[in-house]
Amino acid sequence: MLQKFLKEIVTLIAGKQAEEIVDLLDGTKYVNEFIIAKKLNLTINQTRNILYKISDQGLVSFIRKKDKRKGWYTYFWKIEILKSLEFLRNSILKKMEQINYQIKSRETKEFYVCPNCNIEFSEESALIHSFTCNECGNIVSRKDNSSSIKEYNKELDKLKKELEFVDAELKIEREKLEKVKVRVAKKEEKLNQKEKERKKLERKKNAPAKASKKTSSKSHVKKAKKSPAKISKKSKVSKKHK
Ligand SMILES: [Zn+2]
Repeated sequence: MLQKFLKEIVTLIAGKQAEEIVDLLDGTKYVNEFIIAKKLNLTINQTRNILYKISDQGLVSFIRKKDKRKGWYTYFWKIEILKSLEFLRNSILKKMEQINYQIKSRETKEFYVCPNCNIEFSEESALIHSFTCNECGNIVSRKDNSSSIKEYNKELDKLKKELEFVDAELKIEREKLEKVKVRVAKKEEKLNQKEKERKKLERKKNAPAKASKKTSSKSHVKKAKKSPAKISKKSKVSKKHK
């Protein structure tokens, strides 16, 4: 279902030939643009043009890598699921707004229709044409709005269901991202903890040498290989010179 919606969006943005890109892109891995072009049976420039259009809306993102021998860049593309869902959500809301406006106008205004051509006229335009059809000259008749209101409500229900689906997908996607964030934060915390313990140990080791804390910890961060013993010797020497 999500795939179907994504195809709709991509078609809207970049045309029908872009539709298949949705099947070729991934939400987590970056895909080489040459593979995309080959599978779409398009040139690399055509493929890039499509992807640029979609990326203008933030629905795909890329990284690029330079080919050291040939000197050119290859782009790798990924679909941005969260952004795409947000885009989808907005377009559904816009459609709903338009339909609500239509329903309201059907409920409050008169409409006329030509029985011959089935063309619809607002009250104002029917008045201007003296209640005749500007295509065939037939006399137009007042329209029963209830059937079109019914149709609009049906469409509205469909959109509401789509919105529910998108909201559910958004929730899943946001939770996923949140989990990743927590995982990264935990990892960082663990690393920090290890680093702290290591520094503590180091300080203990260096304590008899009375190395300046600043020098040892600083150089430790930059070059972990450098033995702290050497550094403390150095600082001792420099102290002597003073
Ligand atoms: Zn007509």
